[in-house]
Amino acid sequence: MPQKKSPFEEILLRLEEANRHLGLPDHIYNRLRHPRRALTVSVPVKMDDGSVSFFTGYRVQYNTARGPAKGGIRYHPEVNLDEVTALAALMTWKTAIVDIPFGGAKGGVACDTKKMSKAEIERLTRRYTYEIGHLIGPESDIPAPDMYTDEQVMAWIMDTYSMMKGYSVPGVVTGKPVAIGGSLGRNRATSEGLVVVLVEAVRELGLRMEDLRVSIIGVGKAGAAAAEILSGLGAKIVGVADSKGAAYNPKGLNVKKLLEHKEESGTVRGFKGAEEMTVDELLGRDSDVLIPAALEGQINEKNAGSIKAKIIAEAANNPTTCEADEILNEKGVFFIPDVLANAGGVVVSYFEWVQDLQRYFWDENEINRRLHGIMTKAFKEVYGVHREKKLNMRTAAMVVGVGRVAEAVSLRGLYP
Ligand code: GLU
Repeated sequence: MPQKKSPFEEILLRLEEANRHLGLPDHIYNRLRHPRRALTVSVPVKMDDGSVSFFTGYRVQYNTARGPAKGGIRYHPEVNLDEVTALAALMTWKTAIVDIPFGGAKGGVACDTKKMSKAEIERLTRRYTYEIGHLIGPESDIPAPDMYTDEQVMAWIMDTYSMMKGYSVPGVVTGKPVAIGGSLGRNRATSEGLVVVLVEAVRELGLRMEDLRVSIIGVGKAGAAAAEILSGLGAKIVGVADSKGAAYNPKGLNVKKLLEHKEESGTVRGFKGAEEMTVDELLGRDSDVLIPAALEGQINEKNAGSIKAKIIAEAANNPTTCEADEILNEKGVFFIPDVLANAGGVVVSYFEWVQDLQRYFWDENEINRRLHGIMTKAFKEVYGVHREKKLNMRTAAMVVGVGRVAEAVSLRGLYP
């Protein structure tokens, strides 16, 4: 059996594939294979019972050729340096694909927030922010929410950094509450952006939104909002899964009631009006669109063969392994890869940062209009390369994103 590849090894394979079409000079290609900086910190936290626990945190700035490093912070028990590096590389390609003036970064702390009190999460966040405080800043590296971090965590980061500086610095972090410099529309931005590119794909493929049956794996913020927006556009949400199991109804689920059920019971399992099954069983059921919206690697060589969907729109980062990619590409599945499909989040983060720096805030229509424009343009560029060079959509997206980063690296040259 071949050894399972780590997330960053998979990123390097995809970079290699993109370079087969880009043909970059070795000195540029090799710079794209290395993270610029990676910081590991120990985060001691006083727990509610008076004991002190030690957590490990990371911040990786993958590439900053196109601008300040940008990317979320993840709290999850399995966070490690390899994963954070992989996600930081993805942020680098993602910001380039949507052509916003940022590099790529990611951070994380290995912790289980489900077992921690709010006060413990606050102390963890403040100490972690202090430990990475010399790397972050509105001109250098701007964190944002990711899995199991939210507006409140961003508010604590903003406050801690501001206390360190002695004045308020809203532009140090995005995804903040609106009351302290957050942007309207940031909360649902990932899902709004995903729907924009999905609508474009559906049109290009000659399908109709009203005929589509959609399955969503993961009902966090992105998955839940995507279900709401898509059912509002007339698509049928037939399957929804979380870490505990899945609910499926080929006639369509009542999204509002399902989300209420999830809110009350903590899972989509046991929802009346749906068949209960495992996530892998759901993948084998009929649907036209699959939206993975949870952890990485959820679509892998074990379940890829049974997937029925024709379109996969990746709300999660890195949800499909390279092996699964191969199987699904062979089946002719149309991918909207993570670096394009979920880029709406970082696009509105960009708007938030611009508004913070200008101290001038836009209304929600303005945000949505600009988000729509950027996502449509990025889709058309990637789709154009896919058609013209006969590449699958993931490689096409990589060719666009990596190509832009390589151009910036090359123009800036090598210091000293
Ligand atoms: N964590 C989100 C992502 O993976 C958002 C990052 C950001 O807004 O900086 O794209």
